[in-house]
Amino acid sequence: MQLIKTIKEMQAFTKALKAEGKSIGFVPTMGALHEGHISLFRRSGEENDATVASIFINPTQFGPDEDFNQYPKDHKGDMEKLSTLHVEAVFLPDVAEMYPKGFSTFIYVGGIGNILCGASRPDHFNGVATVVTKLFNIVMPDRAYFGQKDFQQTVVIKKIVRELGIDVDIVVCPLVREDDGLAMSSRNAYLSDEERKSALIINKALQYAKSLMLSGKEDSISSVKDKITALITPDPLVSIEYVEIVGTQYLEKIREVKFPAAICIAVNIGNTRLIDNIIVK
Ligand code: AMP
Repeated sequence: MQLIKTIKEMQAFTKALKAEGKSIGFVPTMGALHEGHISLFRRSGEENDATVASIFINPTQFGPDEDFNQYPKDHKGDMEKLSTLHVEAVFLPDVAEMYPKGFSTFIYVGGIGNILCGASRPDHFNGVATVVTKLFNIVMPDRAYFGQKDFQQTVVIKKIVRELGIDVDIVVCPLVREDDGLAMSSRNAYLSDEERKSALIINKALQYAKSLMLSGKEDSISSVKDKITALITPDPLVSIEYVEIVGTQYLEKIREVKFPAAICIAVNIGNTRLIDNIIVK
């Protein structure tokens, strides 16, 4: 497994793979790898001749008051995990390599970048779109793997790939949960024991909403939203940022129960912001 830190070296590595006729799968991450990430590497390993990982905590997707400086880092653990998988190269640029002095070219996502998580994180999806597009240009993968954990991100990335004519297949992989139902996330490391117990309400609320929608007895989305909000609200450690039920392709708010629909939740528990979702078909 090669460790690559510069754009030029990464591009040369990719070109050499392509010259051998090898297909390339790409898994972009911010590190602190867990089983959710690992599932993406496994899938890429199954579907491609070679897999490239990137680990880059992207400053442009964090707001000024967010956790960029505290974001969990575990380079040693990450390398150990990746070395047991079929990963040919890890791209590990520093911030100056990705955003050299004077950098000013950004992708503006518009519409769907400003709702759900984008409402409280105004430049988040512009930062994600910019870094992912740049990484696509550097790694030039045939396929790129993203988790349904960040459902809105997958919709945004599919849209920029479509609208900018980027030649890469986007593969969305299932959300991986802990045994007790908590969605795996690098940010779970921030939670105290008590907060972690409270965090279980998120998946419970999603399951409850799903059962209401599938029961055939609920027509109104606002009634489903009210019921799950009422389930979460009594926990004093959990404050809801949003509970939304949207269409899976365009993220439009829906009024009446219909399928497929994505139930999306963002909460703050102490200083930790957690997101989760479930797609109901
Ligand atoms: P991150 O390092 O948080 O930027 O995540 C890198 C990729 O891993 C993204 O495509 C995430 O959606 C995906 N991912 C993170 N957590 C999970 C999870 N619990 N299940 C599946 N994919 C995940």
